[in-house]
Amino acid sequence: MSAVAARVPAIVAHGGAGAHPTEGRDELRRGMQAAVAAGFAVLSAGGRALDAVEATVRVLEDHPRFNAGRGSVLTSDGTIEMDASIMEGDRLECGAVASVRCIANPVTLARRVLESGRHVLLVGEGAQAFARTVGVPECDPASLITEAQRKRSEALHRATPGTVGAVALDRHGTVAAATSTGGMWGKLPGRVGDSALIGAGTYADSTLGAVSCTGDGEATIRVVLARRALDYLKEADDPGYAAKVAVDLLVDEGRGGGGLILLDWRGRVGWSHSTPLMPVAWMSPAHEAPELAF
Ligand code: ASP
Repeated sequence: MSAVAARVPAIVAHGGAGAHPTEGRDELRRGMQAAVAAGFAVLSAGGRALDAVEATVRVLEDHPRFNAGRGSVLTSDGTIEMDASIMEGDRLECGAVASVRCIANPVTLARRVLESGRHVLLVGEGAQAFARTVGVPECDPASLITEAQRKRSEALHRATPGTVGAVALDRHGTVAAATSTGGMWGKLPGRVGDSALIGAGTYADSTLGAVSCTGDGEATIRVVLARRALDYLKEADDPGYAAKVAVDLLVDEGRGGGGLILLDWRGRVGWSHSTPLMPVAWMSPAHEAPELAF
């Protein structure tokens, strides 16, 4: 535990920087609200930030409207390959999986990797085999493919909707972050994006804050976006400014678009995106219901 005094818990979630700016907003809003409410219930019962971000991301993975778990976009082969990562900021403990096909909640498999303490990132068949040893259920990959994604694929619709992520601060002063995605539409089989990479798509350090990113994974990896956002936070002590400068870096040096959410060690929230829409929702004891920023 990093804090001496109890902190006011908070949770923030995003629903991807590639969301369609007008299509199905109400459905997105309801999904985001349910997700942050699930994470906040963990925090308000005195639970850990790590459990809260996992709970929030699981709700979004189960929701077919988001590009994570069920509803993931398809590869160029018409299959699903998902990436996820999770990190806790006290001891920089982290876990991630990439290119998993038969897991309904990849964030939970990433959490098991974190708990195993041996490795940080497991991919493909090895990650599936690990799932069997730790009792994370496997599913039929066809059950994760939604009709909407199949149609989008047939229509050669390139927009990549709804990667998901969450950041949280608990009463003990611990921060955590998690991100989960089906990746970029039409990606080559075997491609791994930033969402599986600690430092790029996800980072948490309880002395600074927690970050979850979304957008062009290749650009995000180039500039190690999540960690860089915390470096900006350290310099400027302003979460909104740090998020904005980090997204400028993504665009200018990374040569891509996207966004991120950030929660600092004091519970202050920041987010920014270069794309038309990034659904954001957050909750703290100051709010009776989740707040939405879209
Ligand atoms: N960053 C994700 C990836 O590149 C996609 C996204 O956030 O929309 O896999």
